[in-house]
Amino acid sequence: MISIESAQHIILDRIGVLPVEEVPLLQALGRIIAKDVFTPWDAPLADKSAMDGYAISSRAPKRDTWPVVDFVPAGSMCTTAVAPGEAVKIMTGATVPPGCDTVVPIEDTEQTPDGIRLIRDLKPGSHIRKRGDDLKENDLVLTSGSIVRPQEIGLLASLGKTTIGVYRKLRVAILATGDELLDAGSAPDPSRIINSNSYSLAAQVLEAGGEPLLIGIAADTSEATKEKISEGIQADMLITTGGVSVGDRDFVKETIQEMGGELLFWKVNMKPGKPVAFAMLAGKPVFALPGNPVAAMVAVEMFVRPAILQMTGHSRIMKPKVRATLAEQVTNRGERPHLLRMRVTLKNGAYTAIATSSQSSANLTSLTEGNGLLRLEANSSLSAGCSAEITVLDHGFEMGSINYGTL
Ligand code: AMP
Ligand code: MG
Repeated sequence: MISIESAQHIILDRIGVLPVEEVPLLQALGRIIAKDVFTPWDAPLADKSAMDGYAISSRAPKRDTWPVVDFVPAGSMCTTAVAPGEAVKIMTGATVPPGCDTVVPIEDTEQTPDGIRLIRDLKPGSHIRKRGDDLKENDLVLTSGSIVRPQEIGLLASLGKTTIGVYRKLRVAILATGDELLDAGSAPDPSRIINSNSYSLAAQVLEAGGEPLLIGIAADTSEATKEKISEGIQADMLITTGGVSVGDRDFVKETIQEMGGELLFWKVNMKPGKPVAFAMLAGKPVFALPGNPVAAMVAVEMFVRPAILQMTGHSRIMKPKVRATLAEQVTNRGERPHLLRMRVTLKNGAYTAIATSSQSSANLTSLTEGNGLLRLEANSSLSAGCSAEITVLDHGFEMGSINYGTL
């Protein structure tokens, strides 16, 4: 039995990064940039008006009236030569005419029979976005290893790009095993159990940015297990659940080895999730996870998710942690580190954590009620009021001092 950290190191040392592909911008959302992006041109490409107003030269001698000699709407250029002392009506986003260095907003002017009058002090250079103000040609704007968010997509589009090089999506086959399993949607049967793991694990894969492929259920025979593993190993990664303990009908680990897989570990010193195996088969990582629904999900958190993130190019692969004050004492009388499911809430800027009511590895409610994991070492306890580090599981977690506000 190895430690959680050793298991994580073994996994991350063995897996590489997926190849790079060029994809249309919107398909890149949430993916990782594989090549640095440089600006092809100055942005903006010319001096632009930041207001609806009048472009003038601030160097012109003081005057009462400025004749308006042209009009430049957004999207066009001024064709008239503008002399000092003349004004050009200009709209936001339009290119500032040569010779002009300032835009006076409409609200700072008054119409006169001969043009306009300035009703406030002139601020030379104001309301112009200068050429290259945002970016200079060949500036490094996006670095490889960073995530593509909506703002990166907008920036790339603004630089004339319609595609971007990102790491390929990871296809993850998910195989459930067990004669007791029924497909979701089946009528209840006291001798059977519904295959929920395929769904929970697929959802975790989706959240990590992978592409889950549900390849069904293998019966508890060596032949069926082999057939399904052969199918699953066509993907970039295979996750199996169940059949990896020491039961008479647990065939997963042996089958992987019979198929030529290299077993890198089996059994990790943790609860839940001890009977987890990791192997390389046909050059692909295989995670053989326990069947118990909570154990399987916790094993994904600890081992599969970091692997998915590393393979898809992420530089930060572990979940964030927060410090929380324990509302009640927690105790681990067992011999293995316990990953307790916790409910963390934010009150007056501080986190409070409490263990979820069930801690059974079979009860998904221990996770649905919770949003974090607390690692409690073997034979140890933390009393109420202690501060502890909790791994953040949720998207919906109340982060730091972010105030979501109310309507
Ligand atoms: P196993 O590791 O195969 O002995 O399974 C351990 C427990 O997890 C058993 O109670 C199974 O019924 C349950 N289990 C196994 N696979 C699944 C699954 N795909 N969905 C839900 N529960 C499962
Ligand atoms: Mg089983």
